[in-house]
Amino acid sequence: MNLANLSKQDTIIAPSTAPGMGAIAVIRVSGPEAFGCVEKVFHFPKKEKKLTSLPSHTTHFGFIKENEKVIDEVVINLFEKGKSYTGEETVEISCHGSTYITQKIIKLLLQDPSIRLADPGEFTMRAYRNGKFDLAQAEAVADLIHSTSEASAQVALQQMRGGFSNKIKELRTELLNFASLIELELDFSEEDVEFADRTQFFELLNRIQKLLKELIQSFEWGNAIKNGIPIAIVGAPNAGKSTLLNAIFNEERAIVSDIEGTTRDTIEDTIRLGGMEFRFIDTAGIRQTTDEIESQGIKRALNKIEQAKVVFHLIDTPRFLKENIDPSNSLNALYQEYYEKFSGSKTVYLLLNKTDQIKDEQISGLLKSELFSQVFKCSAKEKHGVQEILEQLTKYAASAQQMESDVIVTNQRHVNAMETALEHIQQTVEAMEAEVPGDLLAIDIRAALQSLGSITGEITNDELLGNIFSKFCIGK
Ligand code: GDP
Repeated sequence: MNLANLSKQDTIIAPSTAPGMGAIAVIRVSGPEAFGCVEKVFHFPKKEKKLTSLPSHTTHFGFIKENEKVIDEVVINLFEKGKSYTGEETVEISCHGSTYITQKIIKLLLQDPSIRLADPGEFTMRAYRNGKFDLAQAEAVADLIHSTSEASAQVALQQMRGGFSNKIKELRTELLNFASLIELELDFSEEDVEFADRTQFFELLNRIQKLLKELIQSFEWGNAIKNGIPIAIVGAPNAGKSTLLNAIFNEERAIVSDIEGTTRDTIEDTIRLGGMEFRFIDTAGIRQTTDEIESQGIKRALNKIEQAKVVFHLIDTPRFLKENIDPSNSLNALYQEYYEKFSGSKTVYLLLNKTDQIKDEQISGLLKSELFSQVFKCSAKEKHGVQEILEQLTKYAASAQQMESDVIVTNQRHVNAMETALEHIQQTVEAMEAEVPGDLLAIDIRAALQSLGSITGEITNDELLGNIFSKFCIGK
């Protein structure tokens, strides 16, 4: 986003539908000259009318013409100033969804000197500027557009409708009330008065701390919901990780090979189950190796386990049986250490693979293990047991959604701001305990207010705005 355009109030245009062929495409024109500019190229079938004379929220059929030549038959929607997405006068032109036609109409309108092409996110930025919603809500619009599952759409919608913003604003207002009392004390510093009841203030600070911590914690889930729940598939080379992934996606997306250690690059893919998106991370096998590249793969695999919320630990069961290794003790120290460390925060499933090559009774003793949430037997190659694994993930998704609190934070920027606010609040508490004078208290409270204010955009700067809105696509 061009920072120079941040505060401009001119008329802008951009396609609002994704590029490419479609039944229709929508071109959005917003700004003080929107009606006037469109009027010059839009023609009613019979009697010409002034767009400004027509009521808001009305739809009209007509032609876009360049001189006398018809470019397309279109439908336009009119939105009066104050009654549109941006808060400005807006026309949405629905034309036929050809890239050529869309471009042609946009070019035609751009011939008018009072229109320019919108920057990415500029429509939403204007909506924010015009008070249609705050910054956190604007960011939720981007999340909603990018949402790929029911759960991620729901949290984005919640945030867009102001759930999170209201919580932050409430906290900020309460803090602000106290801050003003403390500031007032400063005006009367010679008289040594206390307007702000310290006990109540302590209570408030405690409450804010608790709430901020909860919100920050919710990000762990919020992030998983927004970006997909990360799943790591680990196991020694040749355990069948790529084959399993293929079985799951039912197509050849991973490299299946007989040569050990060939699945070196991590491959990511996603599936949707139970309203949630899961992001599979195929990793190189974890085992000690002298092979330089593969050892890097192993490092990555450990790293992936750390990132994952769900781990599939796959073993080549016939090999284990042949080599007479007890799978419950089969994990090398590294795995053991990892799973113990993360027990509670991650769900780890043991998958006894290649069961097509063995008899059921051979593994009956292996189906339980304390280290794992559950043990499954499967044959990735024959696609046996894969359905059960997916059903388990569906259950996991359902229980994860039940754990959702009413407000879930999904944005790293908000987390950072809350962490900073929390630090300042902590310092305020310490300062109060040490009975420092009010003017020093006020500094920390102000800093906390500033951080909270940056979430919803009460306190902001151009760089931050530019940064946020450039993440939007053009036309939004
Ligand atoms: P990765 O290194 O863990 O990714 O293992 P691959 O998926 O490349 O599999 C290694 C070999 O084991 C390939 O020849 C697969 O066809 C074979 N394989 C994988 N799963 C099974 C299975 O369930 N049964 C049998 N019999 N072979 C399998």
